[in-house]
Amino acid sequence: MDKERPQCARCPRILCEPDMTVDSKPNFEKAPRFCPSKLKRDIIKESLHEYAKDDIREFARLASIQEFQCYEHTPEGIRTKIPRIEETVQFAGKIGFHKIGLAFCVGLAGEAQMVTEILESKNFEVVSVCCKVGAIPKEKIGIKEEEKISGPGWYESMCNPIAQAEILNSEEVDFVILMGLCVGHDTLFIRYCRAPMTVLAVKDRVTGHNPLAAVYLSHSYYERLRGKTVG
Ligand code: SF4
Repeated sequence: MDKERPQCARCPRILCEPDMTVDSKPNFEKAPRFCPSKLKRDIIKESLHEYAKDDIREFARLASIQEFQCYEHTPEGIRTKIPRIEETVQFAGKIGFHKIGLAFCVGLAGEAQMVTEILESKNFEVVSVCCKVGAIPKEKIGIKEEEKISGPGWYESMCNPIAQAEILNSEEVDFVILMGLCVGHDTLFIRYCRAPMTVLAVKDRVTGHNPLAAVYLSHSYYERLRGKTVG
C-alpha cells in the first residue's frame, strides 16, 4: 500500500481549528487517515523546539498579535479591519524593521512607487530594485529570438532575480517586500535573498494580480484548468 501522505486540502473536518473553549483538547481520533496532525506528530513536536528560541518565539508572537489586530469584534460579530499593505506596515513596525527592500516587477513600477510613498510616509527607509536591473540581454540565459515577448530582433532584458536579491542583501535591508515577480523568478529570488521577506502581491497578468480569480472560476469559465493538459 502507498504510504499515506498529508492532504489537508481534502479535509472535511479541519479538526486542527476546533470550535471549542480553551479548557478542551483537540481530538484527532476522528481526523482523516491523511491528517498530518496524526501522521507527523514528531515533526510537529520538533517544531516547538524552534519556537522555544527567544528570537523565533518573539517573531511568531508578534505575527500572531498582528493577525489578531486584523479583526475587530462588533455587536454583529467578528469582522476584518485592515488591508494587507496596512498589515505589512504594522508588522514591520512591531518587529522594529526600519530599512525595507522592495523587490518588484517592472510591470508594476507604478504600484512600486505608490508602495514606496506609503512606506516612506510611515518613516521607513525604502530600497527598491526592479526585476530587469542591469538590463542583461535574455540571450545570456539561452533565450532564442522566437522566444522573445516583443518578437525577434528586439533587445529584451532578462528578469534577474538573483541580482535583485543580492543587491538587497548588499544593502542589508531588514525586511523585503515582494511585489509581482513572475513564477520561477520569484522562486530564484526567494532562494537567494537572505533577509526575511513577505509577499504583498503576486503577478497575474490577466486578473489584475488576483490569481484566485481564475481558481474561483475553475468550475465555469476556466474549466480548462481541471483538464489533463496544461495551458
Ligand atoms: S491537520 Fe488534520 S484536521 Fe487539520 S486540516 Fe489537516 S487533515 Fe484536517
